[in-house]
Amino acid sequence: MNQDVEKLWELQTVLSQLGDREKQLTDKPESFAAVDREWQDVNAAMERLQAQIEQLSRERRRVDGELTDQQELLKKYQGQLMQVKNQQQYAAAWKEIDATRKHVKELEDSTLKTMTEIDALQKQNDDLAAGSADLKSRWDAEHAAWQHSLVDLRGEVETLKARAVTIESTVPERLRREFHRIFKQRQNVAIAHVVADSCNGCRTRVRPAVLQQLKRGDLVHCEGCSRILYLETPPS
Ligand SMILES: [Zn+2]
Repeated sequence: MNQDVEKLWELQTVLSQLGDREKQLTDKPESFAAVDREWQDVNAAMERLQAQIEQLSRERRRVDGELTDQQELLKKYQGQLMQVKNQQQYAAAWKEIDATRKHVKELEDSTLKTMTEIDALQKQNDDLAAGSADLKSRWDAEHAAWQHSLVDLRGEVETLKARAVTIESTVPERLRREFHRIFKQRQNVAIAHVVADSCNGCRTRVRPAVLQQLKRGDLVHCEGCSRILYLETPPS
């Protein structure tokens, strides 16, 4: 058995674990991502409701202002009614009063309708907020678990990096470079197992003569994919 190939096999295992851990560090775990999506959805719905409430409140303030103006106007016309000199003026003043009263009534109805709408939206918002308390505590728990797992992961990454450095220091420079070149070119697999007399990386058959070389402990490349072949020592 070739000792260097055995070390490189271990190095490849360590690098593959390192790759997994580093990917995990950048990915949200699905358990957190799921609750996070729910949480974002509820917040977006609440924001939409608040925007609608804000818009209706502005409309209500505008109508309230107009209502005040119209009520002032109504008082003025009612005052004028006391000062009319003849039937014609009396009729004209009443006409103004009637029209203004009608307008006031419309504005009051409109305000009432807006208030009812605002109340309904506010209730929806409050229900969402109340219902989201449980969601928020799940979000907090998943987020905390994720952050905690990152601490462990970072620890594992450091350990694996140190392990890779240690292994590499025991492998000859030329071989180490060759390993990394193939590792980069061949989807992070530089060392391929021989399984059923074939390269496990590309399924190319390993010729009996090459198999003999391997068994002797020579460093041999696959004729199909150029990966370094690794023959596991049968347990003795
Ligand atoms: Zn191969």
